[in-house]
Parts: sequence; C-alpha cells; structure tokens
Amino acid sequence: MYALTPHCHLSKVLRLSRTCRATATSPARTSTADRRRHLPITTTTPATANDYSSLRSTWAHRAWVATGFASVLTTLAKSVSAAVDSGSAFEPLLAAFLGYILADLGTGVYHWAIDNYGSPSTPIFGPQIEAFQGHHRWPWTITRREFANNLHALSRAVTFAVMPIEFFAAADDAAVHAFVGACAGCVMMSQQFHAWAHGTKSRLPPVVVALQDAGVLVSRAEHAAHHREPYNSNYCIVSGVWNGLLDEWKAFEAMEMVVFFRFGVRPRSWSDPELEWKEETGGVSSE
Ligand SMILES: [Zn+2]
Ligand SMILES: [Zn+2]
Repeated sequence: MYALTPHCHLSKVLRLSRTCRATATSPARTSTADRRRHLPITTTTPATANDYSSLRSTWAHRAWVATGFASVLTTLAKSVSAAVDSGSAFEPLLAAFLGYILADLGTGVYHWAIDNYGSPSTPIFGPQIEAFQGHHRWPWTITRREFANNLHALSRAVTFAVMPIEFFAAADDAAVHAFVGACAGCVMMSQQFHAWAHGTKSRLPPVVVALQDAGVLVSRAEHAAHHREPYNSNYCIVSGVWNGLLDEWKAFEAMEMVVFFRFGVRPRSWSDPELEWKEETGGVSSE
C-alpha cells in the first residue's frame, strides 16, 4: 500500500520535484537496492572504439525497414490515386498534416511510457525499454547507429499496424490513406529524427538543419533538454510541436500520478538521476 508522505502537498507532488515526491509508506524512500530490483537498469553496454557490431544493420533489420517503407508508400500511393479520382486534394492533405501532428504526440506518449515503466524483461516492449534506458546512459551511440538498425523495431510495428487498417479501409477514401500513411511514416522515421536531434549542426545535411530550425523536425536544443534534469520533459521526437504544450499542461506528470495512485507504480523519472538517467562518459564521444 502506498501513501503520500505528510509533508508532501499535492501541488508540490504534481511538480514531481525530487525533493518532494510520492513515496511508499515503508520504506519512506525507495532504497537504491529496491529500485535496482524493481526497475532493473539496462545491461546493455555502450559501443566502444572496438565494438560497433551492436550498431550495425543486419539483413533482418533491412528487411523490416523495407517492409515498413513498402506499407507506408503503398498507403500513400492509394491516397494519391483516390485523390486523383475524386479530383480533390484538400481533404487528404489536411488528413496527412493531422497524421504528422498526431505522430509527434504518439511518439511522446510511447517514449514517456518506455522511459518510465517496465524493464528489459517486460514482454514485447522489453527490448525497446532496454534500448531507451541505454540511450539515456550513452546518448551519443544513436549518432553511430546505422539506419536500419535504428529503424527496424518501429518499422516492424508500423508494418503490423498499417496492414490491417489498410485491409479494412475503403479503397476510395483518400483522407484515411493519407492520415495512416503520414502518421505511420512519421512514427517509423521518428528514430531517425531523434538521431538527427543528437547530431552536430556542422555534420548534419543542411536540409535537415533547415527543417529542425523551422520546427518541422524536432530541434537539437529541444531534445537536448530531454537529456537534462529533471529528465521528464520533451519526450516527443517527430516535430516536437507537442513538447511545450505537454510540459506546460504537466500532462506526463499528471499521468504519472494517475498510474502511481491507481497501481502504486513509480515512474523511473522519480528516481535519482545518478541511478538510471545520467549520461555516462566513456567509449567514444559523440562528436
Ligand atoms: Zn528518453
Ligand atoms: Zn535522445
């Protein structure tokens, strides 16, 4: 059974500061040993100068990325075909824009969930949870990760999500195809946008820098804030358009409180940053 410590007022709790947090009645503050037991940190090790094998793409990675792109491009092609037949482009364009906007929100919620809950042994999501915990320890590795290695997990998810939707969607509904194609494509590419957000301006393609500066893709500065204390903001990694709003509304903090009061589960962001969030130096520097 969990309860708030008496000195901790709800308004302060909702800020989720580390000096005022919801805690279990016994022990008053979760011990390091307990946190390690309940929220095991990743065992993934960073790539070193002599070990980049974990960052390379395999043929299985490339096959899943190819399947994901085929799903997305087929969906978009159906949209274009239906739009040409109907003679109207406004609705599908609006739907595609909506898909792009909602993809940013979707990546934020998913990123928040796997950053904060579960463990490497969690069914289905365990490998992603481990990978994202490893990313917080060694964020620079994402800039060295090969394209298909970085995108294969989301490509597989997109493939399995898009196929049934497309199966049931009406062939002549250009707006539905546009929404699904744009949203799925942005979600699939979000890990590449994320990798670019960790890049150095001088080493990124100029068009990527221009899109980041215009707010079309998540900016380097905005995502850098996600990797700084208090490690509970800027989760969205497509355009980042939702980051300011979600942080202003304290949306993730409110959801963390709901999860805590309903299930008694603490998010990882309430833990000491030294334990699971802080970047480790060593291996090879990012730039
Ligand atoms: Zn994160
Ligand atoms: Zn990152």
